[in-house]
Amino acid sequence: MAWLNNGILRNGQIEVICGCMFSGKTEALITQIRRAQIARLRFQVFKPVVDTRYALDAVASHDRTEFPATNVKTAQEILHLVEPFTEVIGIDECQFFTNDIADVATALATSGRRVILAGLDTDWQGQPFGPMPQLLALADVIHKQYAICVVCGAPATRTQRIVGANGQFLLGSTESYEARCRKHFDPTFSERLKHSASRLAASNEAMAQDNSLATDAFGRPIGEFS
Ligand SMILES: [Zn+2]
Repeated sequence: MAWLNNGILRNGQIEVICGCMFSGKTEALITQIRRAQIARLRFQVFKPVVDTRYALDAVASHDRTEFPATNVKTAQEILHLVEPFTEVIGIDECQFFTNDIADVATALATSGRRVILAGLDTDWQGQPFGPMPQLLALADVIHKQYAICVVCGAPATRTQRIVGANGQFLLGSTESYEARCRKHFDPTFSERLKHSASRLAASNEAMAQDNSLATDAFGRPIGEFS
């Protein structure tokens, strides 16, 4: 067996845990980290600072299972924070990193470490999310997780946004998203909802303006003379 100078067994690899929201990605990551802990391997867990949903210094799944994690602003920061004897590295919410997370994962795996990266593979429009395609291409091992479609109960691979909002990043949980199968996934739903909401707001405004032109009991426009 080949060993590095610092004594780490040189069998590093990149593992990616991917899937839609509510598919148990973080639970799967926490399971792997717990196994490493039981095996008395030295481990560290990181996550991007953007994910502040439940806990600032922990990876937290939707069912609130938590594990201590270090927040980082960039992927490069992980390279500086990894301790020399760390053997297993968990990184959650990888979709929020820039593409250099792929270089960071490669560098860590090349140095003999087991790197486990969890992240959403597609966004709310069903498009590949951030650096996940690169990570999946570079991975030695891939675990695809499935949620349950809330409409039909089939295995779900898509994240349906159920509120009207723009932008790829809208942090949230069950109030903003649902798991859906391909058949019941509607990538235009959120846009349509947003447009109908703004149309409603516009018509409310128009009605308010109409009211301002309303006349009083003497036929005089309200707001002009009264
Ligand atoms: Zn379905």
